Amino acid sequence: MHYRLLLFICLVTLQASAKDALTQAYKRYAAPSNATLQFAVQDSSRLFAHTARPWLTYNRNPSGICYVSDTFFLKKDSIISQKQNMVFHAATQYTPSQLLITDFGYDKPQTISRRELDEYVFQSARYSPILLLHYYLQHKDKLTMKKHRKQTTYTLPIGENRVTIFINAENLIDSITVQYPHYLFGDITRAFTYSSHTTLGEIAIPNDIRITSFNGHISERTLISAPTLIHTPPPAQPVPAAYAIQEEKEDTIQVQSERYNDHIGFIHNKHTDSRTLVVSFKDFLVVMEAPLNSENGTRIIAEAHKLFPGKPIRYFAYSHHHPHYLGGVRSFIHNGATILSQDSNLHYLQFIAGNPHTMKPDSLQLQPKPLKTELYTDKKEITDGEYTMQIHLIGNKSSHAYDFAVFYFPEEKLLFEGELIWIKKEGEIAKANARQLGLYEAVKERGLDVKTFVQSWPLYNYNLKSIISLKELEETVQIK
Ligand SMILES: [Zn+2]
Repeated sequence: MHYRLLLFICLVTLQASAKDALTQAYKRYAAPSNATLQFAVQDSSRLFAHTARPWLTYNRNPSGICYVSDTFFLKKDSIISQKQNMVFHAATQYTPSQLLITDFGYDKPQTISRRELDEYVFQSARYSPILLLHYYLQHKDKLTMKKHRKQTTYTLPIGENRVTIFINAENLIDSITVQYPHYLFGDITRAFTYSSHTTLGEIAIPNDIRITSFNGHISERTLISAPTLIHTPPPAQPVPAAYAIQEEKEDTIQVQSERYNDHIGFIHNKHTDSRTLVVSFKDFLVVMEAPLNSENGTRIIAEAHKLFPGKPIRYFAYSHHHPHYLGGVRSFIHNGATILSQDSNLHYLQFIAGNPHTMKPDSLQLQPKPLKTELYTDKKEITDGEYTMQIHLIGNKSSHAYDFAVFYFPEEKLLFEGELIWIKKEGEIAKANARQLGLYEAVKERGLDVKTFVQSWPLYNYNLKSIISLKELEETVQIK
């Protein structure tokens, strides 16, 4: 046979069999069209949120029951709280046009964004690949297929996400990965690894699904058991009358700066409801707090130079590791500033500085610079010989984060802090909460002569004061 013709036939065969891998995988996992797959789930979920330390998670271990077909998913699960001697219930229901999530402790579905709806097709892979496989078959024209020695991969863009299914020679899924640009961490991968497949008749069931998020920093697991096919409609959740998907809207960027005196300037990041502080020393600047992402960081750098022209930013400092305070740090690294950081956060800071941002490049990705740090454990002073500021690590006194630091300006008797004082703009004065009390005690223990507290967040929402006198704080502390 002619060599070229042979090669052509081989390629066609290869493509056909590889193309088949997706259809074959779908056939292995999907329930027959007249039935719904039902199975029991036991979840070890680790929720990453604004916790007291970087990478600390809220742990939940619900168990329940799932129903899945090509375009329908329902999970009903519950948690038993030994402490409260109560059972909490939750439900998640997906169809291509609706996502109803009633979380534990709620009695009706929460508002869902368009993005959450679109992404549930792969988020559901922590229980079953059926929705995703069906979705892939409907979007064949957008798939990129690659044949490897032991696997065939299919990659599909879904919104900002790059989703890849890894199918092995038995047409079973080894894993599914989701790559996406995280606003703070950059290129992030979430992976679902399937193992311990069993069968229900012809249907393959992955019994053990391991989930790793944030490039392996967080590990979760779902165990599947007792699969069965049902031929009656699953017990669907009622759709609330006023149900609507919330369309995404871009934040309107609004930044306003003001000079407080010759040394201190404030930048109000209205779109993030937060305040940045700029301090001018003889021949350098210090900036404190930059919210959420590098774009805000870059904008703040420009504003800082407008407030106090002609001086380089020598230091960037942040009150604690939550995104509203540390989020813009990469722009300061790019700008050449030294990052003043709590000793315990070095690894977290190194991850933020070093993790690639190729999917949505920022200034540091485009022009890499080394991370320069000066670490502190309890207190740090910055001075030019005349003007001085102090950083005090009050830690768990904050009742909020172990790395909580506050910034003290002796000359102004001013203390700048993240989010510890919750005093309403109007109305009766309420008893100090644990954060307020902790801050007040820390100020007294450290002998700081404070007249005014200036808070970074929130500025406009929640109807709270963000500039508070010592007298006002004391009043809340004295209420028994
Ligand atoms: Zn916080």
